[in-house]
This record gives sequence, structure tokens and C-alpha cells, in this order.
Amino acid sequence: MPRLIKLSKILLDDPVSSLPGVGPKKTEALNKAGCLTVFDILRFYPTKYQDRRKTTPVSNVENGKMYLLRVKLESIKSYFARRGLTVINAIFYDNFGKITAKWFNKTYLTKQLLPNSEYWVFGTITKSANQLIISNPEVEKIEEINGKRADVLTPIYPSNARLSEANISPLSLRKLISLILDSIDWENSLPESLRDSAFQKILQALEEIHRPKSDESLHKAKYTLAFFDQVLFQIGVLKRRELLTGYLSLPDSTTPPRFECPYPLPFKLTNGQLDALSEIIADLRNNLLPENSETASPKPPMNRLLQGDVGSGKTLVAFLSMLHFSLELAPGFQCAFMAPTEILARQHLANFQKFFPQFANKAVIVTGSQKTAEKRLVNDLIATGSALFVFGTHALFQEKIVFRELGFCIIDEQQRFGVNHRRLLFNKGTNPNQLLLSATPIPRTLSLTIFGDMDTSIINEMPPGRSPVITTIEKSFKSALPAIKTELDAGHQVYIVCPLIELSDERDWISVEEAAENVEEMLPNVSYATLTGAQTWDEKELVMQSFKDRQLQILIATTVVEVGVDNPNATLMIIENANCFGLSQLHQLRGRVGRGSAKSKCILISHDDKSNERLEVLASTNDGFELSMEDLKLRGPGDLVGTRQSGLGHPCFSHRIPQKLIENARKRAFEILTIEPKEINDWFNIQMIRSFGESYKTFMEGG
Ligand code: ADP
Ligand code: MG
Repeated sequence: MPRLIKLSKILLDDPVSSLPGVGPKKTEALNKAGCLTVFDILRFYPTKYQDRRKTTPVSNVENGKMYLLRVKLESIKSYFARRGLTVINAIFYDNFGKITAKWFNKTYLTKQLLPNSEYWVFGTITKSANQLIISNPEVEKIEEINGKRADVLTPIYPSNARLSEANISPLSLRKLISLILDSIDWENSLPESLRDSAFQKILQALEEIHRPKSDESLHKAKYTLAFFDQVLFQIGVLKRRELLTGYLSLPDSTTPPRFECPYPLPFKLTNGQLDALSEIIADLRNNLLPENSETASPKPPMNRLLQGDVGSGKTLVAFLSMLHFSLELAPGFQCAFMAPTEILARQHLANFQKFFPQFANKAVIVTGSQKTAEKRLVNDLIATGSALFVFGTHALFQEKIVFRELGFCIIDEQQRFGVNHRRLLFNKGTNPNQLLLSATPIPRTLSLTIFGDMDTSIINEMPPGRSPVITTIEKSFKSALPAIKTELDAGHQVYIVCPLIELSDERDWISVEEAAENVEEMLPNVSYATLTGAQTWDEKELVMQSFKDRQLQILIATTVVEVGVDNPNATLMIIENANCFGLSQLHQLRGRVGRGSAKSKCILISHDDKSNERLEVLASTNDGFELSMEDLKLRGPGDLVGTRQSGLGHPCFSHRIPQKLIENARKRAFEILTIEPKEINDWFNIQMIRSFGESYKTFMEGG
């Protein structure tokens, strides 16, 4: 006897196991795919729609175009073409003619497709003298669902690895969703307090995206859901900000009073530097620690990202904010300035002592390579508080250093450090202020999302008198030789950067080793040395110092020179296999030259004949902001966000979302968290956590 199932109404929050046809096994598989509730299933959106009102008779198709056909199967056969290749040929027909469909290796179709049954067939037509072929088409049996569904836009779901593991094909997902929509009780699916029109709109959009009534209403629904998703993401971003700072607040956008630099400097600060500095100092002042540090500070500590193109002078801005903090705002509180390499950390210390000789004795450095006796001395100075400005590498958080009172952490080249690194340093103080310096400007869509939990300051101009680095593309090292000789003859120095340290079986990129051989062969009597991450600190230090002292004419290196290294006499940067680096990274490398008064050049070597479109973009502009936008378009956000990757996994994250939508969603998210009633706040919170799925925890921790 057939079982009659009378469907009771389904609610959005019902577990998937309550759906008909979903037994314990399927439930487990669905749960594994991230679907706990009916709502979760509805959050798999179609990627396209077929208008099944618009089919084309077989007699009317044209060569090379895509069509949706409504046809019957006449016959289907498969034959071996050669090893590993089986061809499946099916003949379909309608009232006007016949067409052959061809697939490769999909032998299961010979069992699945039934002669005399009717199918939707969708694909591209090849028309020859006497044959019509539709190649590798999508095919689906025509089933009149409740006899009515054939006249609307039909959703086509993308295949999804996690769903197919749960044995749910795009077709069965459509059936499952259709079944849900047939019996869902929208009205009772939201908590009572949310049943006003604004929230109903989200549910209507959810129905519309699976069952669009028209192109226009579909368009609106997509916008509503994109906004809803972004609100959820922004709630996550604001919560992360709250978790990191202890306060729920929107990033600051007020313009503070201009800060006047009280120290003599060899040059005038740019307006961009002054603006950024003023913002940082206003922020630090706002959360001044109270006299009695037993009580919590009245405002959250600073959590700020300082952006600026390579060479825009971020370091000096950081120095001045350190000085102001430890000498004026919070006398006696210490600053830690962490850099990703020892070369860079030492360079920072040297510059600090050069710019501010009056405070030179208050600055120390901590590195992994220090001898025990030196370490002990430095640790002592830090523990007693006589060292106010503590420079260093990873050793700053790795070593057993105890600060007397750490109040301000500065992280140079933040993309090089993991969140846990920052946290370890941060934990050496009590809620210290944080300033992260980013190597490249970050496009606005990223600073609103992945970096949305931080305030940002931007240095939007370069110090005067810099002439742009002239960038060209060459096919080989040989063709760069004349340029190298010209610079060397003028007494200038040259960098050669390679993607590999030594020869590799896997990639035929030029290695530092190979480049050194080339130099010996083609430029005899030129002094050079190599610099790679494989050398010990002492070796690297010796090489760097000799290069700075001009005892070396050429420095052949890996990307270890990418960050921050400063030698104004180096005027030519040669980058081997330039195509294997990201645009922003190339721009960073290029930023190693053009730091003095002499005109500088950058030569990108690309051995392949393929298009060098990306490299041409780099050659055409010296604007790091433009390049990072381009990088984002071409390679996605990975290169720009560094180790801060977890937000990228959020299903609602896309750097292609319009900036305005993100900004509005953030405002809405803030309203929900602050002025909406608790029930609404709660509902959104639950949805937010679910929307992050497995990445929730790492995201919240700032990863
Ligand atoms: P980045 O922003 O890439 O970290 P740096 O802080 O290393 O840049 O600065 C690049 C160079 O510019 C340094 O040699 C620095 O001393 C110099 N510099 C910084 N500010 C100014 C300025 N206002 N005028 C002239 N030179 C400056
Ligand atoms: Mg720098």
C-alpha cells in the first residue's frame, strides 16, 4: 500500500531531519555539509536560471549559439573511441527535426536517459552540412512538478563539493528546495518581533531567489539577500572589533586637530604624514589610561591600521606617535616596535637613534641572534622600564621578556605576522594600543571587511622630490646588461631579485645561484654577494652592511629584500621571472630603489612570450593604490591580506561587492547591535554565527 504523506508545515529553523525523504544518513551528510536547518539549505542559491518558456525548435538553431531545447529521446548509444575515451551519442527530436547530443565518458547516461521520454537539453550547437550536434549539454528529464512549474525561470544550482559528498546533486537540491518551498510556513518562521515588513522582505527574497517571478523581482531579491548577507558579515566584523578592543563602536571618521611635531627633523613632514599622525595621536589621547591603572581604561585601546604606499614615510609617523605616547600622553609606558626581519628591525633602531639622538639611550633591540649576556642586559632595561622604545623581531614575543608596562605595540609590515604573533606581543601589556603598518594600501572593500574591525589612517602622498622609478620589461638577463653597466659605471648599485634560492626540479625559474653564475660570466670583475633566508643572521648582516657601505656593487637576493631595506645609492632593481610575483609584491620590491636623489629604474624580466599584461600595468604606474586594486581584481585578496585569511572563507565575503552596499550594511549592522530590541539582536546573532560556519572561531580571534 502506498504511503500517503501529509506534509505538515515546515519552519525555517526546523532541523533537516524533519524533511520528508531525509533519513538519519542523509541528515548526517547534510549536517556535515554545513546544513543543520531548513534555512541552511535555502542558503544555497542558484547561480543561473533557465527561462523554460523560451525553447527553440530544433529547425531554428544556429551554429555556435546556446539553446534550450525541449525534445524527446529517440535512441542512445555509446562506443569506445580510444583508450580512456568513450563517446555517447543520443538522438533527440521534436516536431521539427532531429539533433545529436554528444558526451564523453558519461556512460551512465545510457542507463539514465529513456527513449520516448521528454527532456530539457541545454548547450552549444555545432551545425555542419548535414548534421546538428549539441556538445556536452546539460540534460534534465521534464517533470511537471504539480503541473505548474514549467512556466517560470528555473533555478540552476551549482555543483557543490560538500553537497555531492552528501550525495545531493544539483538536481536533487532543486527538488529538495522545491519541496521545502511548497510547504514552508514563512509567517511563523520568524520570531514574533521580527514579523514586520522589513524582515519579511528577507524571507520574500529567499523565496524569490529560488522561484523568481520575473527578472525584475529576481534582481531585487538578489540585492536584498546580498545586503542581508553583508549585514551578517558586518555584525561579525563589529563583534570582532568589540572582542579585540572591549568596545562596540564604529570606526572613527572624525578629523582631529592638526598635530605639530615638537622635534627638529631633517625634512618637513608631508601633509599626509601629519594627517595620519594627528589621527593616531587623537586616538591614543582618547583612551588615555587613568591615573590609577587598577581601574579599566575608559576608552578602548587604539586598534589602527596605517596605510601608505611604499616610501611614503610610515616609519617616521610610527616613531613620532611612539615618542608622543611614552613621553607626553602616558609617561613611562613602553612601546614595542616589531619588524619581520632582523635587518629591518636594526635599520629601524638605527634610524630612530639618528632622527632622535636625544632619546637614543631609551631605545633597545631584541633579536633571536643576541648573545646571552647582551640579552640579559637588554631584558633588564626592559623590565625596569629604562628602555622606553623596544625594537625587535619575532624574538619580542618569543623570548622571555617582561615589560615593566607595555602600552603601545607597533607592527611593521603587518601582513608578515600571524594574528597569534600579534596576540602574544599584545599579551605582554595590559590592553596596549596597537598600530599596524601595512606594506601596501588596501582597497576600500577590504578595509571595510577583512580589516573592518580596525580604524584606518592613510598617508596619501609621497615626500617631495622623489622621481618615479622607470619600469621596463625585458626578455632575458642579457638584455638588461647595458642598463646594469650604465648604473655601475655611475657608481650606483644594483639589486637582482630571484624567486628561488637554488635550482629546482619543479620550476624552471631563475635561482639566486644561477643568477650569480650569470653575473660572474657576463660581468667579470664586478663585486657581488647573495642574500637569502637560508643564511644565518651574521652572514646576512655582513652582506647588508657591505652593500650599504658600497663594497658590493650587486646584491643578488630572494624576496628577503622586499621589506623595508633602505640603500639610497641603489638605483636599479632587476626582478627575474617577474610574472611569478603579485603586483603589490613587485611594487614593494621596486620600492627598494628610487630612495635617493638619483633617477632609478626597475627591469622586470619575463622569459615567456605570453602576454605580460600584468607587468605592463606595473610599468604604467607607480601608484601602489592602483596596483593593489588591480591585484585584487587579478589575483583575489590573498596577497593583500597576508595571514589574515579567515574572513575570506565567509560565504558572504566577496571583494566584488560594491563599496556603498558594504558601508550601508555596516551602519545597519551597528543599529542592529545597538538600538534594535534584544530579540532582533539575538536572531541576527544566531544567523551571523551560522553564516560563518566553521571559520567563526578563527575569524573572531582576528585571523
Ligand atoms: P615606508 O612607508 O615604505 O615604510 P619609510 O618609512 O621607510 O617608508 O620612508 C622612506 C624614506 O623616506 C626613508 O628614508 C625616510 O627617512 C624618508 N622620509 C620619510 N618622511 C619624509 C619626508 N617627509 N620628507 C622626506 N623624506 C622622508
Ligand atoms: Mg616600511
